[in-house]
Amino acid sequence: MTTDREPPVILWFRRDLRLADNPALQAAHATGRPIVPVYILDEGSAVRPIGGASRWWLDKSLKALAASIMERGGSLVLRRGDSEAELRRLIDQTGATCVMMNRLFEPDGWARDTDIAHALKADGVEVKGFNGTLLTRPGSVLNGSGGPYKVYTPFMKALRAQLEPPAHTTGPCDLSGAPEVDSDDIDAWGLHPTRPDWSGGFLGEPGEAGATRALSAFLQSGLKSYDDDRNRPDREGTSRLSPHLHFGEISPWRAWTAAYDAAGSDGSSAGQADKFTNELIWRDFSAHLFHHFPTLPTDAFRPEYDRMPWINDAAQIEAWTKGQTGYPIVDAGMRELWTTGFMHNRVRMIVASFLIKHLLIDWRKGEAWFWDCLMDADLAQNAQNWQWVAGSGADASPYFRIFNPITQGQKFDPDGVYVTRWVPELKRLSPAFVHSPWTAPPEILRAAGVTLGRTYPKPLVDHAEARQRALAALKTINSQG
Ligand code: FAD
Repeated sequence: MTTDREPPVILWFRRDLRLADNPALQAAHATGRPIVPVYILDEGSAVRPIGGASRWWLDKSLKALAASIMERGGSLVLRRGDSEAELRRLIDQTGATCVMMNRLFEPDGWARDTDIAHALKADGVEVKGFNGTLLTRPGSVLNGSGGPYKVYTPFMKALRAQLEPPAHTTGPCDLSGAPEVDSDDIDAWGLHPTRPDWSGGFLGEPGEAGATRALSAFLQSGLKSYDDDRNRPDREGTSRLSPHLHFGEISPWRAWTAAYDAAGSDGSSAGQADKFTNELIWRDFSAHLFHHFPTLPTDAFRPEYDRMPWINDAAQIEAWTKGQTGYPIVDAGMRELWTTGFMHNRVRMIVASFLIKHLLIDWRKGEAWFWDCLMDADLAQNAQNWQWVAGSGADASPYFRIFNPITQGQKFDPDGVYVTRWVPELKRLSPAFVHSPWTAPPEILRAAGVTLGRTYPKPLVDHAEARQRALAALKTINSQG
């Protein structure tokens, strides 16, 4: 079917689920032609199906996007199936002669989109791709020899030197005028979990308005003490923007510019904005690395680490996933993850280190669990961070720096507020013992109602012994090959 008006432009939404600061939408609007916005749930071509918690977020985010488009007179078309086939069907139905999209930079998404663009172009359809998800496009921040950076700090400096965040735009006010076509019922996609519905405690407000609110709340209360508080799981010291950024409900430039605007000319706040934007740059760093090194989620970046003598004890993996390791800060983090779909960054590092080093379990098993449980699960971020903890990454924490889960808890949750929120069976223990209940005298345990091995597990491994075993494992990989 064609219309008697100018042929429409298809705007292919993917992980840019917003109307503001959306380069592909701006370009589509600039043509002056009607815009057909579409989201295609293409699970067949994905290297990895979307994890459970992310599916929950996607469901709500798409509903929010559809409502925003409707407020502006348009209608979000939902399709499920092969991306190219669905785009072709939509082209046939609408007479569109152009497809615009913000590119995905993960290697498989990049390759798939490139193939689709070539195929459509061969049939006379114009295809235009933009960067709507990262501060900088992979390939645009390169070292002196023209290769990708493998170390964060020079990458960060090079990115800062060249970044010019675009001016904020709110997106077109009028999205009416597109031809009407069939659209799926999103509820039939089954993105919201059932049997069981474990999403009751999920936190966050998916969608563009929720992203803007999260940013404003952070700028008002968190930014001024970000550097001190960002490591404190017992405080609300970080932005909680990660799922919003993953799904593109807010642009990273908006977060960047708003942080510096909020900091104003005050020297100390500008320092806080630098710390915050350095984290946004870590996000770009992971994405660039993955774009250039497609095996990041599957292979150790430093190949010798794939010789690690993993133990992979199934019962210990299960205890870790259930928050039953006997190390309170680890258990708190794992329970927070399961209940809310989120875990604080400091605690992510602690639980990952515990799995890899204390239990000698392959980081890929932890990465896979996070993938299913995190609302912000992101292949590049998850893989890069797991490899950072494992010591096998490009710019990793040295393997021999083994986090002590007791002192980490004491340092970053000194009053046990975070631990007892998620491990309430320890709530009557004093801060002196809450991170290591097995060190408490029997009468203190009795008074707190704690019986180790019954009301709360005994430690799965002894910290000092596990540390020695981990260091011995490191020696074996270094002595081989
Ligand atoms: P803030 O401190 O407010 O930071 C602002 C933004 O910067 C974040 O929203 C995020 O986009 C980015 N950022 C912050 N820390 C990092 C980091 N270490 N690496 C990359 N970007 C960062 N983040 C994900 O988005 N998806 C993942 O799948 C993911 N998996 C992780 C796995 C492990 C083992 C670890 C240690 C970290 C992982 N992270 C992941 C990074 C980090 O934990 C989260 O981005 C952060 O906790 C999000 O909270 P926030 O938005 O309040 O962060």
